[in-house]
Amino acid sequence: MRTRHTLTAALALTLTLGTASAPALASTPAAPTATASTTSSEDWTDERSRALLERLQELAPAGSDRVDTLNRALGIDPQARAAQLERAIDGSQYECSDTELMGWLDGQLADWDLVDILILSLTGALDWPTYDALLFQPDGPQHYGVDGEHTKELEKTFRTLTAFWDVDGSDIRMGAMHGSVIQDDARMVRLLTFLYGYTPEEAQELTDLIQDYLQQDKFAGGDHPLFSFNAFAYSEEGAPPEAQLGIGDKIIMGDGILEGMGAIGLGDVAPRGILAHEYGHQVQFELGLFDDHAGDAEATRETELEADALAGYYLSHPRGERLRNQRVDAFVRSFGEVGDCSFASDGHHGTPNQRSASAAWADELANAKGAKGHVLPAGTVSDRFRAVLPEILAPDA
Ligand SMILES: [Zn+2]
Repeated sequence: MRTRHTLTAALALTLTLGTASAPALASTPAAPTATASTTSSEDWTDERSRALLERLQELAPAGSDRVDTLNRALGIDPQARAAQLERAIDGSQYECSDTELMGWLDGQLADWDLVDILILSLTGALDWPTYDALLFQPDGPQHYGVDGEHTKELEKTFRTLTAFWDVDGSDIRMGAMHGSVIQDDARMVRLLTFLYGYTPEEAQELTDLIQDYLQQDKFAGGDHPLFSFNAFAYSEEGAPPEAQLGIGDKIIMGDGILEGMGAIGLGDVAPRGILAHEYGHQVQFELGLFDDHAGDAEATRETELEADALAGYYLSHPRGERLRNQRVDAFVRSFGEVGDCSFASDGHHGTPNQRSASAAWADELANAKGAKGHVLPAGTVSDRFRAVLPEILAPDA
């Protein structure tokens, strides 16, 4: 039974490639490399960075069962990611850089150096926004996108999705993931005391040190997209007791992934498409569709492609988003942007062609003759999709 489905599991997974040969980053007292030339970065002399690192090594969490549980639920492997980031700033390629989206993210890391990765990995700070979102959001009115530019659109889409599908979505809550949460003392102290058993004073000191470091222009105080480069659906429905965290059904939308989609020209439809895909996972949870599959890579690919199909059906349907023509092309493309790199390495999410074919199939189903105005039960869409899946998965399908 899977308890979460992330949009960019692709990134997390490909990061595990090649870790055997990568240095154990967290224990490497690396020499700072030349930093990029933002004014405030120049304030961070080698000496100052080293002093910070020394203090962080004393303060750094030694490990925590709670964090281990969250990482398992979220598919996060901090050490593997650190190794991947290290390769990225070395000028070598992301495993994922064959997509425009991952190429864009790579570009956003051009001015990071090894010390940055060391500091942010050692402390777990790269994942603080994700943990905060999973554990505590929404804890009040939400905004989506760094400046709330996606709030109206996503709240409307969420309401439409809830009415569209014939499953009870009334218990699903949507929340935002902002890297800037790291600037919020109260939320960080709440998070770090909970995760690591710190005293409030220890949590505040660690928060202060990281906040200070993130003042450098290149991190935008945490609004750099890497801190929130994901969206995910979470449910404990059917999960074994030891895997349950007591968290209700939720969908989390990260600023970074929304920004990235906008940067590659998909800002018009990708936010709705990502949300519809995550909602598709909630439909799968409600219908028990994950139970039909063993938890291997092939099963994950099938449920991911099915979530694409459910999303595509909703996006095209006259009673859903009613997208047409180029906009259908755009959401089909947006699914390809987030999934393929993982598949290329270990068969995880589906190739761009498979994802496109799933969405295109759903577009046809939503606009079939005589279907106008009638929304099929989600279970029927699932059955029909699984009937054509072998064709979609066939070579050269
Ligand atoms: Zn997914």
